[in-house]
Amino acid sequence: ALPIHEAVLGRAAAEHGEATALIDAATGATVSYAQLDSAHRGIAAGLARAGLRKGDVLALHSPNSIAYPGVFYGATRAGASVTTVHPLATAEEFATQLRGAGARWIVTVAPLLETARRAAELAPGIEEIFVCDRAEGHASVLDMAESAGPEPVVAIDPDEDVAVLPYSSGTTGVPKGVMLTHRSIATNLAQLEVPLPMGPGDRILAVLPFFHIYGLTALMNAPLRKGATVVVLSRFEIESFLGTIERHRVTALFVAPPIVLALARHPAVARYDLSSLEYAISAAAPLDAALAAVCSERLGLPPMGQAYGMTELSPATHVVPPAGPPGPPGTVGRLLPSTELRLLPLDGGGKRAGTVGPGEEGEIAIRGPQVMKGYLGLAEATADMIDEDGWLRTGDVGRMDADGWLYVVDRVKELIKYKGYQVAPAELEALLLTHDRIADAAVVGVPDQDGSEIPKAYVVRRPGAARLTEDEVMAFVAERVAPYKRIRRVSFVAGVPRAASGKILRRQLREREEPG
Ligand code: ATP
Ligand code: MG
Repeated sequence: ALPIHEAVLGRAAAEHGEATALIDAATGATVSYAQLDSAHRGIAAGLARAGLRKGDVLALHSPNSIAYPGVFYGATRAGASVTTVHPLATAEEFATQLRGAGARWIVTVAPLLETARRAAELAPGIEEIFVCDRAEGHASVLDMAESAGPEPVVAIDPDEDVAVLPYSSGTTGVPKGVMLTHRSIATNLAQLEVPLPMGPGDRILAVLPFFHIYGLTALMNAPLRKGATVVVLSRFEIESFLGTIERHRVTALFVAPPIVLALARHPAVARYDLSSLEYAISAAAPLDAALAAVCSERLGLPPMGQAYGMTELSPATHVVPPAGPPGPPGTVGRLLPSTELRLLPLDGGGKRAGTVGPGEEGEIAIRGPQVMKGYLGLAEATADMIDEDGWLRTGDVGRMDADGWLYVVDRVKELIKYKGYQVAPAELEALLLTHDRIADAAVVGVPDQDGSEIPKAYVVRRPGAARLTEDEVMAFVAERVAPYKRIRRVSFVAGVPRAASGKILRRQLREREEPG
């Protein structure tokens, strides 16, 4: 295995030097592969001159930009482990990550400097804050990128050394630092190569954040490794998203369910020329098959595919190959090569043995080279997650059909236990979204008077539509599902809380609930 900067940029720079690696969708500025290669080498040299040593943790705190990849690979080339930080994190959240990760260096952008400075005050041991644009009093990696200094000599052990230390989304609890080695990341990219071909001429729209493992892999590492062009947007806004596809002739989209929802509904979609698009893939959260179909049709695309993974899996284990048969509606794909899957019985008392039959639901367990090294500083949580034989329990409920297509039902912990039945909130959320007066919805289990759990819906009314009542919401669901799955309580809310990766933060909704 190669260090990740070699695995991604090594061949691309040699084979596609003059090709465009990155385009800034806002300004039109571009970076060629040759420029990216020399920039990341210059940054590696600059960081080493500043005192960065192999094994140091560098926090990368920036929205998506065309400078991001050079900093990322420059830092790994210098021997750092990169911990990627949410650009909207508060100083306290940022400081918690800095302390947890044991970070010594920060790279941020001028508009976020104040937050970075305050975070550094709250976290001991930060040597220096750099910017990847311009700010007075702070060294800029732009200068490093332009000055060719002697490159640091760093011996990286791809099997052991941590390349990236991303934090999980924090959907189910406190975000955890996930140690991903050079090998696990490079291997996952290789595993994705056949089912997800990319190459020169492909233009991938990078709108999901690079700090999250999905954006990092699907939008940055994978396309750059194959000489494709990454069109960078720093945030999702429907008109600029569509305008970027049209202007830059984008060929592939990697999105999350909230974007699918917007594309399926927003009138602006019809006003843009989206004919360059060849395929789209959604991942990170459950996607309803009917919604996916509406979205694909509006974009003028073949059926939208899905992928499945988690931060702890570098991140992918399943994908629906865009080139093959579309796969049955709702599937998250087929298992990647050199990866094993088991579906553990849900009532197995936590045992990792055994697997349920085709069509039956079980907890997804994975073994393969993409399994993380562990959670940083959390030996017990790591041992809970990965057994001695290398099997990782995902905490997700899945089902497989006779042809090997996997379906993700929901998280084990999110299943609502109603009178001995198990209700998957994702199924009810998908159903609610088919109502033409519902703009968005989330479902959680809330405690009932008798101590059991009941399904409760949080509904965002569609603006401009006739006013929807609680009874109408409950009746709509009751007509379409078995009695035990009925929604039994409704709150109308202004919005559904979501993580940056698109996941519904059901935990936040549940915390609002008082028993009774
Ligand atoms: P935390 O572990 O901190 O609670 P998280 O699990 O949301 O947060 P991530 O690693 O970003 O953090 O997300 C992985 C999870 O995303 C998976 O365990 C799964 O629940 C969900 N997921 C990913 N892809 C899909 C998909 N295609 N369909 C349904 N769920 C998905
Ligand atoms: Mg998780």
